[in-house]
Amino acid sequence: MAAYEYETHEYDVVVVGAGGAGLRATLGMAEQGLRTACVTKVFPTRSHTVAAQGGIAASLSNMGPDHWQWHMYDTVKGSDWLGDTDAMEYLARSAPAAVYELEHYGVPFSRTEEGKIYQRPFGGHTTEFGEGPAVQRTCAAADRTGHAILHTLYGQSLKNNAEFYIEYFAIDLIMSDDGVCTGVLCWKLDDGTMHVFRSKMVVLATGGYGRAYFSATSAHTCTGDGGGMVARAGLPLQDMEFVQFHPTGIYGSGCLITEGARGEGGYLTNSEGERFMERYAPQYKDLAPRDYVSRSMTMEIREGRGVGEHGDHIHLNLSHLPAEALAERLPGISESARIFAGVDVTKEPIPVLPTVHYNMGGIPTNYWGEVLNPSEGDPNAVVPGLMAVGEAGCASVHGANRLGSNSLIDLVVFGRAAAIRAGKVVDPESAVPEVVTASVDKAFDRFDGLRNASGSIPTADLRDEMQRTMQSDAAVFRTSETLKDGVTKMTEIAGKLGDLKVTDRSLIWNSDLMETLELTNLMPNALTTIVGAEARHESRGAHAHEDYSERDDETWRVHTIARVDGNKVELSYRPVITDPLTTEDEGGIELKRIAPKARTF
Ligand SMILES: Cc1cc2nc3c(=O)[nH]c(=O)nc-3n(C[C@H](O)[C@H](O)[C@H](O)COP(=O)(O)OP(=O)(O)OC[C@H]3O[C@@H](n4cnc5c(N)ncnc54)[C@H](O)[C@@H]3O)c2cc1C
Repeated sequence: MAAYEYETHEYDVVVVGAGGAGLRATLGMAEQGLRTACVTKVFPTRSHTVAAQGGIAASLSNMGPDHWQWHMYDTVKGSDWLGDTDAMEYLARSAPAAVYELEHYGVPFSRTEEGKIYQRPFGGHTTEFGEGPAVQRTCAAADRTGHAILHTLYGQSLKNNAEFYIEYFAIDLIMSDDGVCTGVLCWKLDDGTMHVFRSKMVVLATGGYGRAYFSATSAHTCTGDGGGMVARAGLPLQDMEFVQFHPTGIYGSGCLITEGARGEGGYLTNSEGERFMERYAPQYKDLAPRDYVSRSMTMEIREGRGVGEHGDHIHLNLSHLPAEALAERLPGISESARIFAGVDVTKEPIPVLPTVHYNMGGIPTNYWGEVLNPSEGDPNAVVPGLMAVGEAGCASVHGANRLGSNSLIDLVVFGRAAAIRAGKVVDPESAVPEVVTASVDKAFDRFDGLRNASGSIPTADLRDEMQRTMQSDAAVFRTSETLKDGVTKMTEIAGKLGDLKVTDRSLIWNSDLMETLELTNLMPNALTTIVGAEARHESRGAHAHEDYSERDDETWRVHTIARVDGNKVELSYRPVITDPLTTEDEGGIELKRIAPKARTF
């Protein structure tokens, strides 16, 4: 057994992650007087949320009529009827209050002439239950919305005496024998000390796992650590096969050009200069949802109408927009286009390609953020002491496809919901549970094994194999053949984790070891993604299966539940929650409005 000394910390709540979700949860917990620690591997304001450009959706009606029921309808349809209806109602209903709350905390939203919060159109956001024109629902702070939110929430959390443990890497959850989460083991990166956080509630807010792919818009830190920890604790992941490709990653670098660019009037063209989205989505054109636009772009490229020397990408045009509008509403992307594509957006189109952007799947939760461990008898059974929020979680409000600007609102609505729930289930007077030594020892053993790994494959090489396999075999379009092949390859790649070679044995700023821990987290996320995709014999949202091109509600309107053991994945399914929180009589949505139907735009 590996012997490491460690320091022990006791809290009511430990939040792992300081992105938008983690900070909103931390702030909410601290405001209620719960003793709250926030542990983060990067400085809070460097979390990936800082890169969010386009905005945050809420039916404020500042630019024209809007209703939360319309937002809910769009989210249900956007999810391709895979989202949980109670959670989607909670999101759309709570969104306006959550945005006003951010405003009062100090987020500097862009304004209209009259001083109201400015809102722009975004893909899939409509009026009149999908029958009216596109709506302006997305609130923004120019094209630096995530940056503004993150800085504001960090300041507010400090003001409320939340305690931050910065550049602490969470290694594994500490679980009791009867399945209660009682804490988390962390490694302090700058001095090599070890820390056991004991708590009554652990909240995972560790973000997505975009880096399981070769080309992604997300930061290199987006390695699905929460999902990895959960999988190792014997708990499942949900709907992992649904991976969003954003239509406009800059060709080559993958750097994101926000959908706000199309919201402000930008449009896509093929090699013939044609605005091809008019053919695929006659009503909403370039503002159809992301899965739809990404597939249309891929079709154009496949049919020989891609642009560039190799005909392998598409043009995004902004040069017709007034220079003042570009400077005021999209300053950041004008800069990105110049740096990463060498393009002056006032004169030339930006070369773009669908790029991995968001993970709809994650750790299953209810709409209070409580983690679920579904069993046959109880598909909604809760894991005591454990919550998950933000991109790491799957509530599930995005189902098979997330609408643009619905993630930032998800972070604050469910970060806040988790805090409200913790206020009910965490008793500040009770004793902090003892940790189970066996669970701590197990986590140290794994850590020590990796630290001393002396196999034959460097971490970077195995990561590269994984990323390239995911990129080619779990792509925008999928076939039985590519998926089967991908499952075989990924099973083999995951099997090689035991043969890794780590060269640096130190405990201080050991980036080799940190990246190895991250790879062990990426792997179960990647494996469940491809295994879930291979098993799902239909097309729904972001999962476009060429051999099963139709959506099949009869068999497949179910959540995939994936458990990982080594390089094996076991799948089961959990029913989608189809009932909203309130009935029509209680002011809720009419049920017939949200019944499944064909998804066209
Ligand atoms: C370029 C880009 C632009 C986007 N634009 C928009 C937009 O305009 N609107 C929108 O709605 N959505 C947008 N999204 C999506 C949205 O920004 C993300 O889904 C969201 O920010 C994720 O937030 P999060 O709080 O869940 O995680 P993150 O912001 O990714 O934060 C994760 C946190 O977890 C911590 N962490 C992770 N692992 C560990 C560990 N092992 N130990 C300790 N700490 C750990 C990290 O330090 C970090 O603090 C965008 C995404 C990208 C990539």
